Amino acid sequence: MKLLLIVLSILILTLVPLQPRVAPADIVFKNGNVYTANDKAPQAQAIAVKADHIVFVGTNADAQKYVGANTRVVDLHGNTVLPGFTDAHQHLSGVGQREMTLNLEGTTSLEDLLAKVKARVDQAKPGEWVTGRGWIETHWQPPAFPTRWDLDKVSPNNPVILGRADGHGAVANSAALKLAGVDKSTPNPFGGEISKDKQSGEPNGMLLDAAQGLVRRKVPPTTAADAERAVELGVKRDISLGWTQIQDAGGSYDDVNIFKKLYAAGTIKLRIYKAVYGPGPNATRLLNEGPTIGAFENRFTLRTIKVISDGALGSRGAALLGPYSDAPDTSGFLTVKAEELRPMLIDALRKGIQVETHAIGDRANRFILDEYERALNAVPPGERKIAEPRWRVEHAQIVNPADIPRFAKLGIIPSMQPSHAIGDLFFAPSRLGLERLAGAYAWETFIKSGVVVPGGSDAPVERGEPMIEFYAAVARKDPKGFSSEGWHPEEAVTREQALKMFTIWPAYAAFEEKLRGSIEPGKLADLTILSADIMKIPELDILKTRCVMTVINGEVVFDRNERE
Ligand SMILES: [Zn+2]
Repeated sequence: MKLLLIVLSILILTLVPLQPRVAPADIVFKNGNVYTANDKAPQAQAIAVKADHIVFVGTNADAQKYVGANTRVVDLHGNTVLPGFTDAHQHLSGVGQREMTLNLEGTTSLEDLLAKVKARVDQAKPGEWVTGRGWIETHWQPPAFPTRWDLDKVSPNNPVILGRADGHGAVANSAALKLAGVDKSTPNPFGGEISKDKQSGEPNGMLLDAAQGLVRRKVPPTTAADAERAVELGVKRDISLGWTQIQDAGGSYDDVNIFKKLYAAGTIKLRIYKAVYGPGPNATRLLNEGPTIGAFENRFTLRTIKVISDGALGSRGAALLGPYSDAPDTSGFLTVKAEELRPMLIDALRKGIQVETHAIGDRANRFILDEYERALNAVPPGERKIAEPRWRVEHAQIVNPADIPRFAKLGIIPSMQPSHAIGDLFFAPSRLGLERLAGAYAWETFIKSGVVVPGGSDAPVERGEPMIEFYAAVARKDPKGFSSEGWHPEEAVTREQALKMFTIWPAYAAFEEKLRGSIEPGKLADLTILSADIMKIPELDILKTRCVMTVINGEVVFDRNERE
């Protein structure tokens, strides 16, 4: 009997190395430079994936036992592997539409803008609308908004409306204003402003925030096919850049229906964490129908209401506690009424709906913290469907230093966009004065105060590229390496923090930290694979780094080698 046992043991010991001791994986990634965003095991060489989730993280040698006859083995040749990147604040349809309409990103001067518009007008039919987006005047000489009269020179007949990159302002030409019936006597709508020429009092073409709607509602609606195409184009661009989830910061049930249709058809694979605008009919519907969580194989969740509480800094629509330093007659404006917000916040707490609010100026941030606090006090944890509701403030750009600790205290998440800082810091000192910059884009101060800071791009307001955002977060310099007085270099984050900003922290902000956001066995297999080690290379080289592969739910959804 003893002999038999010994023989059996020898047999087992010799046979075992030939056979996988575990169920074979579908894919094994090996020879990777893996950063896991898991503090307990921060680095690895190999990952094994079975169906949609990770089954192993560790060394090449140990991964070998997951390789079976049908396992696909991907040699990463030392490329860097990160948990699938999440853009915590994006406007997906807008990203796609930017590809479809006149894309004015990178416009270098007024002349450049007019040349682009003229080229489009020359191809347009008589009376056809010309729409576009993406211009930003801060680097033009002089850095002044374009006017209707500028546009009239290249488009006297076709109506034109062109959104500033931030989406909080647009310039329309005279034909567009005429169609919309906007003239000297038109009053400013609530939450918006029709800019006027100082001498004549005539509208100069610039429409801020809600005032854009006066003209935009005259633009023929995009067709259903256009809207679907925009989503498809947006998704294609996002996955090619390495995004595995985007948190879609606003919109309507029309978007929800398009996403569902495209998921059902298998056309899109990107994860979307969706919000709809409120207060209003979309928010009411979400409150009545309840959330959708983890539909289409954990790709789609709808559980959030997006509120907009002020405008943007560039167009001086951000609501400040004091006047703008470069325009003492204004301090911006709030764009939501407290009496409409309050019942919705109470209802959201009772029904377990997340709320995220756009707040840029220090007055808007204080306003929304006050409103959140009031609602949280009115509905104690026992009466909430979700005791810790993880409400968010989107942007949290200029916050009075006294208000920063309130986020941690109330459990509010500041969701921030690093590229806004490196774009805005050129004009923020003049808009705000150096003193108010102490609480501006204060990423590190926020993190030290005890909150997580999910990172986003706000595309199409910004380019929407993960490497630009990562660079901006760790360098806090412009893309040429420039920074200046008042940029507060101490607010730059470490690379480890930046990695979390685009992985595990947005997962937390979406109640998904147990599901995804780090590379750990049991989590969904989302990976972003890059051409260089952004945790170590010189700052400026981060901007040259490219996504080589994107994996969502264990499936390679983008592979640069296959494409080129
Ligand atoms: Zn946004």
